[in-house]
Amino acid sequence: MVCEVKMKERNGIINPIFTCQPCGAQYASIGIKDCIGIVHGGQGCVMFVRMLFAQHFKESFEIASSSLHEDGAVFGACHRVEEAVDVLLMRYPHVKVVPIISTCSTEVIGDDIDGVVRKLNQDLLKEKYAGREVHLIPIHSPSFVGSMVSGYDVAVNELVTYFAKKGEPNGKLNLITGWANPGDVKALKHLLAEMEVDATVLFEIEAFDSPLLPDRSVVSHGDTTVEDLVGTANAVGTIALNRYEGGKAAKYLEGKFGVPAVIGPTPIGIRNTDAFLQKVKRLTGKPIPKSLVHERGIALDALADLTHMFFADKKVAIYGNADLVIGLAEFCLDLEMKPMLLLLGDDNPNYVDDPRIKALKEKVTHDMEIVTNADLWELEDRIRNKGLELDLILGHSKGRFTSIDCKVPMFRVGFPVYDRAGYYRHPVVGYEGAIWLAEGMANTLFTDMEYKKNKEWLLNVW
Ligand code: SF4
Repeated sequence: MVCEVKMKERNGIINPIFTCQPCGAQYASIGIKDCIGIVHGGQGCVMFVRMLFAQHFKESFEIASSSLHEDGAVFGACHRVEEAVDVLLMRYPHVKVVPIISTCSTEVIGDDIDGVVRKLNQDLLKEKYAGREVHLIPIHSPSFVGSMVSGYDVAVNELVTYFAKKGEPNGKLNLITGWANPGDVKALKHLLAEMEVDATVLFEIEAFDSPLLPDRSVVSHGDTTVEDLVGTANAVGTIALNRYEGGKAAKYLEGKFGVPAVIGPTPIGIRNTDAFLQKVKRLTGKPIPKSLVHERGIALDALADLTHMFFADKKVAIYGNADLVIGLAEFCLDLEMKPMLLLLGDDNPNYVDDPRIKALKEKVTHDMEIVTNADLWELEDRIRNKGLELDLILGHSKGRFTSIDCKVPMFRVGFPVYDRAGYYRHPVVGYEGAIWLAEGMANTLFTDMEYKKNKEWLLNVW
């Protein structure tokens, strides 16, 4: 049996899995309180990303654009950043943190956003906004390298590097969630609270599941404060749940301030959640309480009801962010399923040496392909033309037409999910996430059995 990691052979992209680096930088910046990022590029670099976020969360929030036009793209547009910062600070008196996120066009023309920031710090902030706390942070995220995943990683690293400052030990644990949903953040906080661990959850977006309140405040924002970011240098350790979405910042804190870094595993499924809790225990000295053993037992019971009866040998394709895809593949193997195809939407050369991918290669007992720099045509082409038989697809909403046209049921997971209600509210991590994933996959398969009249009678006698 063969498990291969290979790069997509075609040139060009048909139905991309990812969007570009500035998207990831924007996702990281919405996790900070009193922060509005300025994307230095055309309005579309914000508008389409913002639309994706808004579709995913069904919430409203703020990101700004320097609104580059044709003349700026030719002659340079640093002056647009200067104007944008001034307008933003005037319009939003509470804003303290302004990441300035570059894009493909402004990197190609060589706009010096670091120089602009130095100039603004010396002139505008001293003269017009004297006494006001403002942090301008350049984030270089050209779209012609990497993807939204590396853009998130770059932004997290830049923001942590800018703020982290050595002080007195604060006894807290840094938790870099990676590209998470509000439901994931809530589940992670719950696990830490049960262990009585005082943690700084970084780039914290739980509040993007926002309430409608009598005061009519309807704008969502992140909850990681400047103080949280400064204090990351004084923590007992950092856990970055995702290797490719925050791992760089964890390593920076370890190298610069001696804060021990633990990278992964993404706590998807029972095995990886166990490993996460053991790592929290090791870093903090806090024991794993009986309440979590009980939760684990409930999750195991839920999975046992489904695994052998319904999941065994079911063939799955998974696409999306690498840490998520790998975590889901590991979980599927634990559920006796067969991940046949993993699609990673960028060409990160580190994927080949990822220990989790190496472990998958050793573990699988069926033929499995892992395709990097992949698009959704890699999936559709295999189903339509190359005899790939699947029982289930796991991925975000961009694959919905492949699922519909090829009549393969799909359980939505990842970002963005806009064609199902409320998925951002549910975790995929922790024991609770294991239940949500397993039951969601099972119910998707059940609906398909009924729709296709494929042994649907089984559900009468289960
Ligand atoms: S690819 Fe370039 S132009 Fe398009 S949204 Fe990304 S940064 Fe903007």
